[in-house]
Amino acid sequence: MAHDQPAANTGPTKLVIKNIGLLLTGDMDKPVADADTVVAENGRITAIGRFKDVDTEGATTLIDANGSALTPGLIDSHVHPVAGDWTPRQNQIGWIDSFLHGGVTTMISAGEVHMPGRPRDVVGVKAMAIFAQRAFSAFRPGGVKIHAGAPVIEPGMTEEDFKELAAAGVKLLGEVGLGGVKDGATAKQMVAWARKYGIQSTIHTGGPSIPGSGLIGADVVLEADTDVVGHINGGHTALPDKEIRCICEGCKRGLELVHNGNERAALYTLRTAREMGEMHRVILGTDAPAGSGVQPLGILRMVSMLSSLGDVPAEIAFCFATGNTARMRALDCGIVEVGRAADFVLMDKAQHSAGKDLLESVQLGDLPGIGMTVIDGIVRTERSRNTPPATRVPQIVGH
Ligand SMILES: [Zn+2]
Repeated sequence: MAHDQPAANTGPTKLVIKNIGLLLTGDMDKPVADADTVVAENGRITAIGRFKDVDTEGATTLIDANGSALTPGLIDSHVHPVAGDWTPRQNQIGWIDSFLHGGVTTMISAGEVHMPGRPRDVVGVKAMAIFAQRAFSAFRPGGVKIHAGAPVIEPGMTEEDFKELAAAGVKLLGEVGLGGVKDGATAKQMVAWARKYGIQSTIHTGGPSIPGSGLIGADVVLEADTDVVGHINGGHTALPDKEIRCICEGCKRGLELVHNGNERAALYTLRTAREMGEMHRVILGTDAPAGSGVQPLGILRMVSMLSSLGDVPAEIAFCFATGNTARMRALDCGIVEVGRAADFVLMDKAQHSAGKDLLESVQLGDLPGIGMTVIDGIVRTERSRNTPPATRVPQIVGH
């Protein structure tokens, strides 16, 4: 059943989660909320507060968090889906469902570039993007929200092509540089056309990822001016530090750090963003599936790595994987706030972590244990099959 769509809602739903030990909001300005209860009706958050103060009557699902922490569902800002829950890159089935067990409830495609026989002609590029947008809107493994249909720009595309893509429902460009357009001037023109019609963009920063891709340096990144500086820490090969600094200082765009990248360069970018007072620009992805594999715990590993080695409080590091991405990508999830989508992860420190609680365990470099995931107010998984076991786990106590 894990690969099926959730059953259509037949009536109003009300989810109540009580006994939350720590509520991480995903909002860098106020990362911890003074609350132990969250209520969601019909998939949207309707109340956050103390149990005695909020209306918990008539719950269709009641969860006792048992003191575990609640965070927004994690967002992977950089994935390469192809077809359903299969990836040809590592010839693996069920990779998206595995990410759900790592707390990822939303994924953003940086291009369906691993499609065998991927078309390079303009009509083919557009057709494939529209197909992917449709297919992943209609098919959500485990309920995971996959924003796909991200064409990679090719020479010869005109303003009319971007207008047509936008009208057909395409909202993203795949990584600039993975197609035939590799020069700054052409990229800048096409990115601007995309933006004019409401299509967000990203770019392949750094050395070639796999044979056939190319180097994109700071000059091209800055000239192209995409909304997100895709894997500024390389995928896998990073630019020299001085070029990374030049990008951080030369624009106000999103600084995306990926698991399939250079970890030292990720820490350098983080320190640079912090020095500049611009940590709200930092967002996280995995770049999976990649040559380095499929990383179901990749976003959690990035949170833990950046917190422990980058000296960032864990509650802030979680914002890189939630609220920062949601704001930059204009998503309705990623922050625990009334009106937003009820996408949550319930987690606690892993059993036998040296940390005294979840936040300290992450700051010490351990991964949390996930006890439950919720998407659109519906419980999708209970105890994760992929994380270390959580110390305290939530329980469904009433329907
Ligand atoms: Zn890339």
